[in-house]
Amino acid sequence: MEEANNSNVGTDLKPQMIYRCKKCRRIVAAEENVVLHERGEGEKCFKWKKRTKGMDKEPPECSSIFVEPMKWMQAVEEGTNEEKLQCIGCKARLGSFNWAGMQCNCGAWVNPAFQLHKSRIDECRIYLTAEQDAARN
Ligand SMILES: [Zn+2]
Ligand SMILES: [Zn+2]
Repeated sequence: MEEANNSNVGTDLKPQMIYRCKKCRRIVAAEENVVLHERGEGEKCFKWKKRTKGMDKEPPECSSIFVEPMKWMQAVEEGTNEEKLQCIGCKARLGSFNWAGMQCNCGAWVNPAFQLHKSRIDECRIYLTAEQDAARN
């Protein structure tokens, strides 16, 4: 029976980006955990670097994402101020955190910072039903 269900797909399934550990595929963050930051002005923000001639250079693409503190971040749970972030599944180093903040490679400061390197994680888009989504937390 060809009910007009297709029109409902958009409301039942909502696409969401998730981030997995590249090594063991464990989900380490979801789109809703990502803390967005304004792109900084690249090298201009790094005072300790000499200003480069091409000042209109575009800021570099952010090489990492910043997220909220998550349950799997054991060092965070232990109350450490600043530590590397290891995947709880395979112990691969995924990034680092610092409650006092960290600077993204684009130049922007994120505070507090829970940084995951894009090179260590895989981004993928999944579809959750509304119920699954509600059950997750
Ligand atoms: Zn950035
Ligand atoms: Zn892993």
